[in-house]
Amino acid sequence: MNYSRFLTATSLARKPSPIRSTGENQMDIISRAPKTLISLAPGSPNPNTFPFKSAAFTVENGKTIQLEDALIKTALQYSPSYGIPELLSWLKQLQIKLHNPPTVYYPPNQGQMDLCITSGCQDGLCKAFEMLINPGDTILVNEPLFPGTLYAMKPLGANILNVPSDEHGIIPDGLKKILSQWKPEDSKDPTKKTPKFLYTVPNGNNPTGYSLTGDRKKEIYELARKYDFLIIEDDPYYFLQFSKFSIPTFLSMDVDGRVIRADSFSKILSSGLRVGFMTGPKSLIERIVLHTQVSSLHPCTLSQLMISQLLDQWGEEGFLAHVDRTIDFYKNQRDLVLAAADKWLSGLAEWHVPKAGMFLWIKVKGISDTKELIEKKAIEREVLLVPGNSFFVDASAPTSFFRASFSLVTPAQMDTAFQRLAQLIKECL
Ligand code: PMP
Repeated sequence: MNYSRFLTATSLARKPSPIRSTGENQMDIISRAPKTLISLAPGSPNPNTFPFKSAAFTVENGKTIQLEDALIKTALQYSPSYGIPELLSWLKQLQIKLHNPPTVYYPPNQGQMDLCITSGCQDGLCKAFEMLINPGDTILVNEPLFPGTLYAMKPLGANILNVPSDEHGIIPDGLKKILSQWKPEDSKDPTKKTPKFLYTVPNGNNPTGYSLTGDRKKEIYELARKYDFLIIEDDPYYFLQFSKFSIPTFLSMDVDGRVIRADSFSKILSSGLRVGFMTGPKSLIERIVLHTQVSSLHPCTLSQLMISQLLDQWGEEGFLAHVDRTIDFYKNQRDLVLAAADKWLSGLAEWHVPKAGMFLWIKVKGISDTKELIEKKAIEREVLLVPGNSFFVDASAPTSFFRASFSLVTPAQMDTAFQRLAQLIKECL
């Protein structure tokens, strides 16, 4: 793959920050050097002056994670831009176990799988967009889409094309039709503006809860090969799949090194810790890390160390057992919200059963624009929802959809909310 043709001038111009690279090399030397080595090199503050002396976190199994002595000093100190080495190697093993991408075995400059930790996957995605989008570049997405992505792409001047999709995700024939305006060889000519990448949320999409099927993924990947575009697989709801990872990921089929995958601990360990990770070809992951070197320097060391200690304590089996328990919780919530919707909204609205995640995407029958209903009238009846137009490139266009999240509410609250909403819809018809 010729990665440089995808990169923006800003990304191409990024060089390793000398102070960061030297610092990381020196940390490595110090960790392996005899005690006689004297280092006057690091610009790190002396952690003995920090007021925090220890921390203990109680985990649900009753065990604790104790950060004291050298560990608390490490937790409070600067750390490598890629992420702390112990968490990085844990996550690389996890990715190999879950996705086993062919690229694991490729040479470094030929698409070899690499991974970096970011401050939530939003941070990684935002950096990936800055790396890839020049004003006027063509980008493929499937609406409705996560506003965090949309509002990161829009100011970069991307020409955003919507690929038709349904409750099973992107429709390959719809994608083929869009691509047919180009010839495969056009990707070699920058003036033809062939799509640079396809961005999609393959599991439990935010806001729809829809998931892309494995067969469709295979077809889409083949189209990406034919027209030579990258795939950004934004998968923060991967660990909330009610069918428990039965669908192969784009990363797992990535024979070329054209997939950038965004993972997140936000839905499974903590959203406030802000830890996510990006997996993809080394040449592109390196560019994301160069960006981190000059923005936040690195993701939060304390957050990474907390997670790394927890994962070490649990082991892979313990982590996956926690994932299973979390899936059971959300699956139960999903079933309860569907029961409440069936009870109150049947005949008034339509929806599909979410296969993952925490959202129900509801279409109100007979109301072409739900904006006022959701933003004004529902609030007056004390029900908060998100109007559908927030998830479209053209937010001013009317839509009869809205998003209901079933993550935080009790069964009684779901029931009352939909009862109030049903009454309101009837009054508006
Ligand atoms: N992508 C999607 C589709 C999301 O729904 C979210 C979170 N709402 C993110 C990315 C950002 O996740 P994180 O907390 O890891 O930054």
